[in-house]
Amino acid sequence: MLLTFRGRLRFFFAIIVIVPTVGLGGVLLTLTKASEQGKTDARLATALDVAMAAYSEGRRAAAADLQRIAADPQLAAALRDGDRSAAASRLRELALADSAVVSAALSLDSGKVVARTGSPFGVASAASVVRSPNGGRIGTLSVSVTDARGLVRSVASSTSVGVAVIRDGRPVASSVPEVRSAPEQAGEFEAGGEEYRGRRVPVPRAAGAREEIAVFREAGGINEAIRSDRLLIIAALVAFLALALAGAIVLLRALQGQIGEFLSAARRLSDGRFDQQVAVRGNDEFAQLGREFNSMSENLEAQIREVELKRQELEETIRRIGEAFASGLDSQAAFDLTVQTAVDACHADAGSGIALDKRLLRDSSAGVRAPALSAALDEAVRGATEPGNADKPVAVAVSGAHALGIQLCAEGECGPDGCAGVIAIARSQQAFTREETELLAYLAARAAISIENADLHGRVQRDAVTDELTGLSNLRRMRMGLTRELERGRRFNTSVGLVLLDIDDFKKVNDTFGHPQGDEVLRRVAGVLHDLSREIDEPARYGGEEMAVVVSQTDLEGAAHLAERMRESIAALRTPRLDGEGEIRVTASFGVAAAPGSAGDEESLVAAADAALYRAKRAGKNRVELAGWGVAL
Ligand code: GH3
Ligand code: MG
Ligand code: MG
Repeated sequence: MLLTFRGRLRFFFAIIVIVPTVGLGGVLLTLTKASEQGKTDARLATALDVAMAAYSEGRRAAAADLQRIAADPQLAAALRDGDRSAAASRLRELALADSAVVSAALSLDSGKVVARTGSPFGVASAASVVRSPNGGRIGTLSVSVTDARGLVRSVASSTSVGVAVIRDGRPVASSVPEVRSAPEQAGEFEAGGEEYRGRRVPVPRAAGAREEIAVFREAGGINEAIRSDRLLIIAALVAFLALALAGAIVLLRALQGQIGEFLSAARRLSDGRFDQQVAVRGNDEFAQLGREFNSMSENLEAQIREVELKRQELEETIRRIGEAFASGLDSQAAFDLTVQTAVDACHADAGSGIALDKRLLRDSSAGVRAPALSAALDEAVRGATEPGNADKPVAVAVSGAHALGIQLCAEGECGPDGCAGVIAIARSQQAFTREETELLAYLAARAAISIENADLHGRVQRDAVTDELTGLSNLRRMRMGLTRELERGRRFNTSVGLVLLDIDDFKKVNDTFGHPQGDEVLRRVAGVLHDLSREIDEPARYGGEEMAVVVSQTDLEGAAHLAERMRESIAALRTPRLDGEGEIRVTASFGVAAAPGSAGDEESLVAAADAALYRAKRAGKNRVELAGWGVAL
């Protein structure tokens, strides 16, 4: 069964208030009846005590008169003589003479009444035995000074309870004529169409008759009392329930109001509005909940702000990396980017990149370098480059500034020479967290791979245009250079010289000393070409033992001059023999041509230089021959 919040509260209200109240009401109503009957019985008992006391008092009062009458000589004589009528008349005289005597009686032991005088209402008699002069029993003389009606009246008026006197089962007097008796045990009975509650008890017997006193009360009065008690209880319970209900409604409203407040606050949060707080009153659980709610909202807001900041940073980083990709990443760009990204991503104030491999990288920096930060950066670089720290970040703290340093080592190449550079980041006050340290290590590892890749790419590119044996440009590269120079020459009206050379009798070197020795000679000759060429010239291996130099912005004469210097240097070259048994000397023949002087285009320029070289061979080798003006021989 699913109850709403309000339904559950009502259910609890019913359980904790209504059910116990109804139960309590039932118990109270039952007790009311018992209590009212108890009260009545107590009053009846009191009335009985009063009646008994009056009875005893009456009997005591009667005793004096009894003595006086019993001592009368005439009555005694009549009794002695056995003259019953004389005794009866004398008893009447004596009773009449005393106004206190209500009734008097003389009875034989056989039970026969000899004389009776006075009112039939006399009760509480005192009695004494009458004896003959020889001591034999004659009978019993009893005297009463108490009128049953008077006794009933006085006890009833003093106790407000109905009283009846019964003799030998017959009522003598009763405060309520219809009530003639009452049960022996306290109980209800009916008389004259009315309900009564009462009881009767026997009076200690003096002589003759058996007398009883009954006390009683109208049951209607008791029931009325019970009814009014019950009404009072019901009214009190109803009032209590009404109060509890009113309290519960107020409580429910307050609860719903507070929960409603939390609900709308939660809705505001889910809509992303953090401006309004939950009102906090007092210090109860709701107030605590409200405070927690508000602090949760503040934390959430701060976290969202943080996430937004992080998102912006990420956007910035992605943008920068995207730009880096677009610009064609080289080693230096990757290095610079790493330093800048490390500063941004780890919230550092300054960053520094130190090139360890100077062929690949230059130093780099990012952020603001305050003196304290500089010292920390230097210390971090020093720590990171210490032996054994090649692949792990090193954290240092120098005069209030914190720094992290790490080497950029490509995987498997860590060691004194395997790292291209080292980067360090620093900030004041706060040390770097574990996450930031891990991020820096990650960045460094990625950067190392990137730099290695960029380096590899450069090397492959170089290899594609470089002759492996001599390190000079290969034919392809030379041709490209020649094309470019001719074009420029045409545009800016400058000359381009071309020097071709062929080592003389090279076959013999191979044949005599072996191919590796020939290779060494080739390398040495190439070294001469490299050393004598300018930065802008392009010395190249043309094929086999033939080489060429494209001499930029130089006419035939200049190129011939260069060729002559090269020829002399080659002739002066001493290549040590690989077997260590002395040196090898070689010479070379040169053919020189120039554009636009010797030829107009690339093909005819090469052909002109080749023809000149051929002539140099023909003319005895180890010499320089020039192509003629516009003539291809
Ligand atoms: P000439 O004076 O007429 O130029 O005579 P030569 O012996 O130099 O001429 P030839 O063209 O007959 O011989 C060139 C030799 O160069 C043949 C070849 O074995 C050798 N050679 C070509 N390329 C290489 C190389 O890469 N290494 C070595 N060791 N020898 C090479
Ligand atoms: Mg040759
Ligand atoms: Mg040759």
